[in-house]
Amino acid sequence: MSRSVDIVVVGAGPAGLAGALHLKGLGHDVLLVAPAAGPTDERTSALLGGSVQLLERIGAWQAASVESAPLRSLRIADGTKRLFRAPEVIFHADEIGLDAFGHNLPNRALVAALEAVAAGTALARLTGSAASLAVSPDRVTLRLAGGEEVVARLVVAADGRNSLVRNQSGITTREWRYDQSALVLNFRHARPHDETSTEFHTEHGPFTIVPLPGERSSLVWVDRPEETTRRLGLDDAALAGEVEARSASILGRVTIDGRRQAFPLSGMTPNRFVAERVALIGEAAHVFPPIGAQGLNLGYRDVTALGEVLAGASDPGSAALLAAYERARRGDVFLRTTAVDALNRTLLNGFLPVQAMRGLGLFLLDRVPPLRRAVMRQGVAAS
Ligand SMILES: Cc1cc2nc3c(=O)[nH]c(=O)nc-3n(C[C@H](O)[C@H](O)[C@H](O)COP(=O)(O)OP(=O)(O)OC[C@H]3O[C@@H](n4cnc5c(N)ncnc54)[C@H](O)[C@@H]3O)c2cc1C
Repeated sequence: MSRSVDIVVVGAGPAGLAGALHLKGLGHDVLLVAPAAGPTDERTSALLGGSVQLLERIGAWQAASVESAPLRSLRIADGTKRLFRAPEVIFHADEIGLDAFGHNLPNRALVAALEAVAAGTALARLTGSAASLAVSPDRVTLRLAGGEEVVARLVVAADGRNSLVRNQSGITTREWRYDQSALVLNFRHARPHDETSTEFHTEHGPFTIVPLPGERSSLVWVDRPEETTRRLGLDDAALAGEVEARSASILGRVTIDGRRQAFPLSGMTPNRFVAERVALIGEAAHVFPPIGAQGLNLGYRDVTALGEVLAGASDPGSAALLAAYERARRGDVFLRTTAVDALNRTLLNGFLPVQAMRGLGLFLLDRVPPLRRAVMRQGVAAS
């Protein structure tokens, strides 16, 4: 027997959970479809103001924020041995009138806070994986791997980078790989981080330290895949030594705190963000390297935009509303994907003029206050 709802959200990662809760909070009839438990995620997310506002609205921020630390300053340091080395640049949130650029917290804590709201508000759920999609002009039928069927007016695809919903709805993608992977871990340190995130630019990618509560920080270390694999195999003491050396001991003695995980770096952009009765959010809609804390923030802007577009709609899957969502998201996603890709490639590019331009850019950012403020505002902008 099939079940009938207005909106089905597929996937219960941080984007899907927030999407389902936000749309339900706006008064829509929502069902969340996801497998029982996702893989463990050791990553943290630096969430900007708009994402925090969304989580506040959903009612998840208070619980999630217990494990978060504010990011009041961002430092970029050149960790390369190149001829043109860029000057160190440090940005302070109060230069643009903000208390903090954002807040960093473990994805595990974020998902737990969202799950607690889902349980407390009795969000309708169906446990299982989406297996196929059949679209007709006025509805879409989603079939799960276990055989259950759901009929809806709109399917929101939040099923991650390899989205089955996206692929089955005929949306094509452009995908690319980088010869890089990211090692992710948390660590304790002897010196305070002073609520400052530090990004060392190296020849093979950024090495980014982001504050956590107390004398703890998270690390995203982008390097060649073989180096990441080697570091994954080190014991904690040896790995801590490498982290301390790469960070030029700015946080003093380092102790690894918890598990480590590796992520191959890739990019994906779909040709459209919607198809007939389908809308994409989160990594189903955009994938790029972890630089400048943009990925999930972009996902939360998808959720906010979808909520705005669907406000008061009697048919949330109508072509006109989906076209409005496409228009609302296209520019923002394209800009962030292009900017992050370009930034990553300038780091990897050893060509002297490119390095000189990068150094000049950072020099100007250091010395020209209006440019600094414009770049800071763009980094935290809502779109
Ligand atoms: C190293 C690293 C660091 C990052 N740091 C930051 C940061 O600081 N700030 C930031 O904003 N972003 C950051 N990002 C990006 C961020 O982690 C992602 O954007 C985010 O995790 C994506 O969430 P999601 O819910 O879209 O996808 P996912 O977390 O992949 O969730 C997808 C869900 O869909 C489910 N699913 C899959 N297939 C099906 C199916 N067929 N049926 C039903 N369910 C299905 C899965 O089980 C999963 O639960 C980082 C990324 C990386 C790699």
